Amino acid sequence: MRESAASSQTPLEARSPFELRVDLGTDVPETDFRAALASGDVGFVHSFTTGSAVDGPGVRVVVWTAGCMWRCLYCHNPDTWTMSNGMPVTVEKAVEELRKYRHGLKVMAGGLTISGGEPLMQHRFAMKLTRAAREMGVHTAIETNGYYGNRLSDDDMDGIDLVLLGIKAWGPERHRELTGMDIAPTIELARRLAARRRPIWVRFVLVPGLTDDPAEIASIARFAADLGTVERVEVLPFHQLGRFKWERLGLKYSLEHTAPPTADAVERVRAVFREVGLTAY
Ligand code: SF4
Repeated sequence: MRESAASSQTPLEARSPFELRVDLGTDVPETDFRAALASGDVGFVHSFTTGSAVDGPGVRVVVWTAGCMWRCLYCHNPDTWTMSNGMPVTVEKAVEELRKYRHGLKVMAGGLTISGGEPLMQHRFAMKLTRAAREMGVHTAIETNGYYGNRLSDDDMDGIDLVLLGIKAWGPERHRELTGMDIAPTIELARRLAARRRPIWVRFVLVPGLTDDPAEIASIARFAADLGTVERVEVLPFHQLGRFKWERLGLKYSLEHTAPPTADAVERVRAVFREVGLTAY
């Protein structure tokens, strides 16, 4: 597959995931897109970042994949929604990049995290990269909203060291309002992972007025505790760092007047998770 003109000029490594990147794969013919998805030999990638301390244990290389079927109102990377915004990257090239950091990642008890966007939209690419990383002895994590969890076989799940599972809301209607999609597949993936005793970190974004309903949070906490394999819960305060992307992409942003939660509010939510026996940060 040839590179698009835009992607050939853009470095794979970004300064941060907040870098706006668009149209890096628009020159790629539709048939090449389909072939890439079918084989997993090529992925569409927003960027790589290195040195992340917030995307799984230790210090990590993060591959931000392009493409997401959800439309979370608070999404801070809407440029990752469209696969054609990502640059085509072969598995070999991604592995070559990762290889540069493998010793450091081990020393810093870190690894590779595949995030997005939604990595399971390109599950074959994600799994090929995960397998290659593990063969190098690199710890692997996938951050997912869980919607395409049924694309993962049991063997696939056993081959991922850690799943960072976003649970955005609990009630089906609330979930649909917030993300545009159903929560049921996310719950199903969580249960399948738990049944195979796979480690999970739950990620929950606290947005004042949107996800701060105490009953909803208590339900998520009970569900997470009952899974039995949730090692930690991360309560992430909503922020406005992605707002400029919505504006630059001409998307209607509805949270312009929403302030980040106070530190006390975040601590109160963490306490709800701790009350059911979970470790929460
Ligand atoms: S699942 Fe993640 S990438 Fe997709 S819309 Fe929601 S926050 Fe954005």
